[in-house]
Amino acid sequence: MKSFSRSKQNARHTVQGAFATGLLTTGWFLLQSLMPTSVTLAQSADEKDPLTYGEFLEKIDQGQVQQVDIDETRGIAYVRLEGQSEDDPPEEVTLFAGERNPELIRRLRDNQVDVEVADTSGNGALAWLATNSLLALIVIFALLMILRRSSGGAGGAMSFGRSKARFQMEAKTGVVFDDVAGVEEAKEELQEVVTFLKSPEKFTAVGARIPKGVLLVGQPGTGKTLLAKAIAGEAGVPFFSISGSEFVEMFVGVGASRVRDLFKKAKENAPCIVFIDEIDAVGRSRGTGIGGGNDEREQTLNQLLTEMDGFEGNSGIIVIAATNRVDVLDMALMRPGRFDRQIIVDLPTYSGRLAILEVHARDKKMSEEVSLEAIARRTPGFSGAQLANLLNEAAILTARRRRDAITMQEIEDAIDRLTIGLTLTPLLDSSRKRMTAYHEVGHALLTTLLENSDELNKVTIIPRSGGIEGFTQSLPNEDIIDSGLYTRSWLLDRITVALGGLAAEAEVFGDDETTTGAGGDIKQVTNLARQMVTLYGMSDLGPVALESMNNEVFLGRDLMPKSEYSEEMATRIDQEVRGIALRGFERAKVVLRENRALMDRLVDALLEQESMDGEQFREIVRQHTQIPRDQRAGVAAGS
Ligand code: ADP
Ligand code: ZN
Repeated sequence: MKSFSRSKQNARHTVQGAFATGLLTTGWFLLQSLMPTSVTLAQSADEKDPLTYGEFLEKIDQGQVQQVDIDETRGIAYVRLEGQSEDDPPEEVTLFAGERNPELIRRLRDNQVDVEVADTSGNGALAWLATNSLLALIVIFALLMILRRSSGGAGGAMSFGRSKARFQMEAKTGVVFDDVAGVEEAKEELQEVVTFLKSPEKFTAVGARIPKGVLLVGQPGTGKTLLAKAIAGEAGVPFFSISGSEFVEMFVGVGASRVRDLFKKAKENAPCIVFIDEIDAVGRSRGTGIGGGNDEREQTLNQLLTEMDGFEGNSGIIVIAATNRVDVLDMALMRPGRFDRQIIVDLPTYSGRLAILEVHARDKKMSEEVSLEAIARRTPGFSGAQLANLLNEAAILTARRRRDAITMQEIEDAIDRLTIGLTLTPLLDSSRKRMTAYHEVGHALLTTLLENSDELNKVTIIPRSGGIEGFTQSLPNEDIIDSGLYTRSWLLDRITVALGGLAAEAEVFGDDETTTGAGGDIKQVTNLARQMVTLYGMSDLGPVALESMNNEVFLGRDLMPKSEYSEEMATRIDQEVRGIALRGFERAKVVLRENRALMDRLVDALLEQESMDGEQFREIVRQHTQIPRDQRAGVAAGS
């Protein structure tokens, strides 16, 4: 902006330049609230007779005003009168809120006065404060010290990226490999990176090129960040981190500038680890994003590639990036010398979960009866973060119940809470409650009777948040889950169990009375049946893969490739899927019909107890059936 006084302009720039090194919101507010007091202070100190607003208007009309700078934020007009010398400070006129615009401006324009309107948003005020008040100077100085410290002290003026460099740095992460459990393979591979950082000469001596980038691939919460921190912790080097998602929706150029700053800092602190979380947010293949390219993202990605190419292999910086979408990453990222190492960080298996639970149980008070093995068995599909969360929830429940150690009860409740939702007060006895009981007993009884189904863990009609009126829970067979191989009979039994709720409703209350409560069950059945037909060749259509597999795992594509089959094949697939579902439904109805008396008895028990564990349920079944299926009864958890 154009300004009159040299000295004022210089002061403004100095302050701005330093100020731009880091702008904290708190500092900002502080300054703004400081301003009014300083204004009065400065005005009383001013010796010159100030120009009033009325005089100002008069002078405009008389054509005595040469030039006006309006500072919107502070509501002050700097007025240079006709014949005033360049070296004299301009007159300052306090404007009234209502008068500022556009009335005044029109008047000035009408009189051909040179006008500048500036929204300095406080920066002008800053300069003004600095020149006018010693007190303000001290305050600013103190603020600058704080800001400087928090921003890491990067210099330079008026640069967006610089002023908001939002990467984090931890001099010492305090995390070691022992804190990360259940990902032994990844740890082993990363052990090498620690050695690179600790004694690079071992590698450089024999001419080995030290990797620059490692890509950790895995679902959220599997411990990727933790692993990266552990590398830094083990090697005793600083840890810089930034998340790719922060670059999205930023002004063009900001992301690239942040990347530049990040690497500049990293180079100053080498050896060190640079961790980029959610790299897919910036690293998607260029020019293929939905809705066209995103300039900001591409610029950020290009900058990242440039930076990675820019430092030598032995500079001591190792970049670790995390993602769960390798498939969408730009190929350029994976070239040699960039992220040429990929390490998969999978969801933990049973033994992994046990190890993770052991890590997080270290600082928790557990009662004797709690078996981490049982918890690990109960939590297939949980990530490390979810397991940590589970133990924490259980500890909170324990404190709330005023117990001194976590018991299996709190663990069970915490699992339900995390997987299903909060418990609500049970329904009063009503026909709806009865219907729910039949529905759940339908699932539970089939789970108990069918040969290839999982073991029943719990059945309840205590409602939960999220519109859940009851649920039946079974313990998946660990061998099956770990191997990832499901037999056709297991799948068919599962479909029958899932339809057991609807089948019970239909058997007991008639087709007309069935409810929408089975919507979720049906969706699950349809998905399973469809996979059997199109992926696993388990139908009359034979062993043909009709759809690609990659939409179910985490390596999903942005846009699913269109399935390559004819209209006619689509119809046949639908027929097969429908056939599997219908047969499952019939089978469920038949089994329940044959065990109607048992079902009624179980419903009565459930209505009374509202919640039964697998063993209680099986006990009633055993009393009624000649050939109880209790071969797995010994594995029953928690009872
Ligand atoms: P990611 O980066 O893969 O999303 P994080 O590393 O942020 O996951 O994990 C979040 C938290 O979950 C960790 O701070 C830790 O408490 C816990 N956690 C996750 N995975 C593990 C693991 N393998 N071992 C121990 N704790 C874990
Ligand atoms: Zn159901």
